[in-house]
Formats: sequence, C-alpha cells, structure tokens
Amino acid sequence: MKQFFIIFFVIIGLQTGFAQNYNQEIENFRQQQFQSLSQEANGPIAVQNLTFLQYFEADETFKVMADVEYLLNEPTFRMPTSDGTSKEFKRYGLLTFTLKGQKFTLPLYENVSRFQSSVQSSYLFLPILDRTTGESTYESGRYIDVKKQDIKDGKLIVDFNKAYNPYCAYSSGYRCPQPPKANYLDIDIAAGEKKYTGPKNQREQDSNMAKNFTEKEKKLITAGSPTEKMYVLQTPIEKDSLILRTQSDDIKYDDALLTALSTRMLATVQDPAHPGVGIAAPQVGINKNLIWVQRFDKPNQPFEFYVNPKIIWRSQLLRQGAEGCLSIPDRKEDVIRNYSIKLQYIDRKTGKHTEELIEGFTAVIFQHEVDHLYGILYPDRLEEQAAKEMVPLHENMQFFIGKGTIVP
Ligand code: ZN
Repeated sequence: MKQFFIIFFVIIGLQTGFAQNYNQEIENFRQQQFQSLSQEANGPIAVQNLTFLQYFEADETFKVMADVEYLLNEPTFRMPTSDGTSKEFKRYGLLTFTLKGQKFTLPLYENVSRFQSSVQSSYLFLPILDRTTGESTYESGRYIDVKKQDIKDGKLIVDFNKAYNPYCAYSSGYRCPQPPKANYLDIDIAAGEKKYTGPKNQREQDSNMAKNFTEKEKKLITAGSPTEKMYVLQTPIEKDSLILRTQSDDIKYDDALLTALSTRMLATVQDPAHPGVGIAAPQVGINKNLIWVQRFDKPNQPFEFYVNPKIIWRSQLLRQGAEGCLSIPDRKEDVIRNYSIKLQYIDRKTGKHTEELIEGFTAVIFQHEVDHLYGILYPDRLEEQAAKEMVPLHENMQFFIGKGTIVP
C-alpha cells in the first residue's frame, strides 16, 4: 500500500511538472513577442497600448502533430491583403492533423515575392480562421509562424497557443494577407492571442524607407533627353514581365533625377501613337513609386504627377468599367474597382504627406496605376473578381449627367 502511494505521488508530480513547463514555454513565447513589438521603432503598436494585448490561457490540447504532404509544381496566386492589394504566394504543403477528436486539413503557404532576404525565405505562412474569428479573436484571422526547418520527417508541430494577430489588428498602414477560405477550421480555437481592444495606431508612411534611383535606373533615365519618350515594357516579354511584377520602392522626393524621369514619363503616356490616361514608373523600367494620372475630374483634364502614392481607404461601393494597359498588348476588359478612394502622396515641394478623396473614372485610373507599383496587373483583378460574389445595386437608383456634358 505504501508503495502505491509513492508511485501515485510521482505520477502527479510529473504531470504538474510538464504542465508548468508548457505554461512557461507559452509564457516565454509571449514575452518574446511583447519584446519585439515594444522594441520596434515606428512599429504597429504604441508602447503604452501593449497592455491591451490579451491571450487565452495556455492549453496544451491545442498543440498537435501534423502530417505534412509537400505540394510540388503549384501555381503562384495573389492572396488579397488588408489594403485592397495582394501579395504573391503558392501552396507549399498540406497539413493533416486531429484536434479535439476532429480531423482537419490546412494549406501551408510560401511567400514567393522576389528579393526576399534569406531569413524571410525560410519562413512559411500559416494563416487561420476559426469559429472564434470576429468574436473573441481578430476579425481577419490569425497567423502561426512556421519555418521550413521545423518540418522533420514529414511531421510538423502546430501549436495554436502561438497564434498571433497580424499587425493590421493594431495599426493602419500595413499590408496583411487575408487568410483564404481553405484555412477555415470549423471549431473554436480558444487558444493564442485574443482580439486587440486598444486604440488603433495610425501609421504614417516611413519616409526613411525612401530610396534614390539605382545606378541602372539613372542610366535609363539619362539615356534620352528629358522630353524623349521611353520604351514601355510589355508583359509577353519575360525580362519586362519580371520588372512589371516587382514591388516598387518609395523614392526620395528630392532626388535630382525626379524631374527628368517625370517629363520623360509624360512624353511616353502622351505618345500620339499609343496615348494613355495614366502610367506607372515600372512600365518604363523604374521600380519606384511614381505615377502620372490624367485628372478627368479637374477642368481641362490635366495630367498630374504623384510621388509615393498610397491608397489608404477604398469605398465599399464598386463600379465596373473597361480597362486596357499600355504594357498589355491588344486587351481590353471590364474590371470592377472601388468607386472612390482616399489617396496619400508626398508633396514634392514640402516633402509632406498630402491626402485627397477621389471618385469615379479618375479613381479607377489611380487604382490601376497604384496596382502597377505592387506588381499587380489588371488581369489579376479579373481573376480575383471571378472568385468573389457581388450583388448589383440597381433598385431605385439611377445616375444622370447634364446633356452636352463630356462623359469620361
Ligand atoms: Zn497599366
């Protein structure tokens, strides 16, 4: 009898020991996240708001061992992001696991944007949506970090206690991928980070990230006179397509070659042989955030040049209209765009951020040109729209325009 008691105590002792270790592991993980969030200058959350971060209690039953099925030759696709643009991903593998007696399969993704650092390229992307999404957890889903080297012998430990909120939960100004429907788990994942309820950070664009033109870009700009048109890159040509598909950087607003490039881009978009209503710098081989847009909403419809434009708000109301692109030969299709947008850009004289509300056809041109800066072409938008359900808004609403008015 005495022996029995001793064994009994040893078992209880071991079990509490394991649980304590696990609680400590999760606590350490959260402390690390806390540290990195609080140390980031110009980061997503103000230090005084860190107290609003909330978590479910550590629960080891939300830690599972998944079988990994690698997926080969997967096509790349654009995953929509919180700012109304998208980022390029492909499926890396399928995770199959049992959680609370239920069997699940989740796709695991790899970010395939070009020019990633080696650290970034070792990370995989595991976004989740579940029954707590929008209730006790963030309405756009949560992420779990996975590294390629964490997969061993076709197995991966997935710990939902480490699910965390994307930066967009705390702040504006980030581009967070939105988890695809395939990543919905029909169960309550009452583990990991809870909904953030603190004040949302309004993140200013970081002007320190702006760059000057590269040597190659300088050569391209100065290869012709400031009024000479430039070659327009074409999607069917592979080396052109690479540049058109690359995300552009912000430019220093006082760069010495900015004026020369702007006048050359204007000559290009106004080329009588191929006139356009807008042009983006990547279309002439310059991966910098610069666009020309014809302002159909202003008297005399002038072309205007914008430095580091960002769309910081998009209306729910959508409109459909025909679009073509100087970089895509012989195509014209109906694209659905936001009816109005709020644009932020840099004033070239002061270097200050300026905001403007734009609507109608001019807003469409801005959306098309700003998309170019993210490597997005209008056929990508067609694909995205094909996957989305939309309801026409026609009852009791008609648009009119005075007779004789010029319709853009
Ligand atoms: Zn275009």
